[in-house]
Amino acid sequence: MKNKPLVAKDIQNLTPQELEDFLYATDKEIYEPFFALSGNKNLAREVIGKITLSNECRLNCHYCSYRKDNPTHTSIISLPELSLLCEKASQLPISGIILEAGVPHPQAFNALYDLIRFVTSQYSFQVYLDIGSETLLAYPEIYDISRHFFIDYSPTNESFRSTLNAFNKQDRLWELIESSAGATYYANYIVDLPGQDFKDMVDDLLNLVQSPVKGIKISPFIPQKGTSFSIFGEACLLTTFKVISLARILKPEWDIFIGPAILELEYEDTLKKSLDKGANKAVLDISLGDTKKEWKNHDLLRLNHGNK
Ligand code: SF4
Repeated sequence: MKNKPLVAKDIQNLTPQELEDFLYATDKEIYEPFFALSGNKNLAREVIGKITLSNECRLNCHYCSYRKDNPTHTSIISLPELSLLCEKASQLPISGIILEAGVPHPQAFNALYDLIRFVTSQYSFQVYLDIGSETLLAYPEIYDISRHFFIDYSPTNESFRSTLNAFNKQDRLWELIESSAGATYYANYIVDLPGQDFKDMVDDLLNLVQSPVKGIKISPFIPQKGTSFSIFGEACLLTTFKVISLARILKPEWDIFIGPAILELEYEDTLKKSLDKGANKAVLDISLGDTKKEWKNHDLLRLNHGNK
């Protein structure tokens, strides 16, 4: 255990152990100075929409509802359905859209490609693809239609990575990122996955801070039906806030997205509070109905126009 108190403004000089101590801290006097520092940035905040193109994946990460062995798959969206969602998105004050899918089987890739090309050619949204790192490695033609990607990184701790059955081709992925001039990458980061301890969180965050990614999408773990991890509890909201705060202080220039899963934590204003801790892009699911409170939150939607 450390002998000196944690001081937020010295975060660049804190050791990994001291960052871990911050994640453990339950004393407001310790963590609130970090929140004050990360949340005081005069960031332009934006709302980003999300559309799921396909919930089928040929891989089998244990935490993910898109995993191959999940019996509740529905498969790929139709073009008319996608068109309707894009029209809805164009009525909302969003500045970009994330198109999400699992890693497609070879026979499904062309259909996925055509859907993405439809959106990029018909709409002026900034389009981000969140379609699995394995897809980027397997189908280089995807770079013909998009330049903004979310990636799944391989956790630093090998036994934790194995527990998740998660992505395991980190060296090839970093090579791809380094060699793909003009493309921008953001890392998917899930907080409180089963088997993940605070050391794993700190090690992976420090690894990403050193990596070529331009930002991070932070999502609390939410157990999903049809996954091996459905029996576990949901993530801790305070830990999620701390990770947002650390990411902002360690990498002030990053775009920090907060995933729509934050709304599934049953606390008030979780999305707003995430923005207050240092996130600058709130991701909301376009496919949710208009009656959902998140799309009625005009204070939040007005963030796109520079109001806080
Ligand atoms: S590769 Fe991505 S979409 Fe596929 S199972 Fe793993 S986390 Fe889910």
